[in-house]
Amino acid sequence: MRAGGTERRDRVNDLRAIIAEQRRTIRRLEAALKKQPGEPVPARCARCGCEKLYKNGMTSIHLKRILNIDRNGFEYRIPVQKFVCVNCGAGAHLKGPPALYHWIVRIAGERK
Ligand SMILES: [Zn+2]
Repeated sequence: MRAGGTERRDRVNDLRAIIAEQRRTIRRLEAALKKQPGEPVPARCARCGCEKLYKNGMTSIHLKRILNIDRNGFEYRIPVQKFVCVNCGAGAHLKGPPALYHWIVRIAGERK
């Protein structure tokens, strides 16, 4: 009976360790979802109007298209943050100069 009690205690300790690890993962993922101060986010979903959008990976878009200019030297693609609507799941990204934000932040990070 005594051995059984020790095994159960070990199992409980193992499960507590697993839960603690999962809590750390949740905190890390929540921090990643949370927008940074000053970080631009689309005001609302174009499909349903919901104002809650989460970051959802990166895409790349031609700089010419983002800035709506037709000039030489703007033919390359830059990384642009993608967002997803919490309500309807539609994808979104920033338009115009705010779409440059994540590219600039990335460049600034690489130069540190
Ligand atoms: Zn939506």
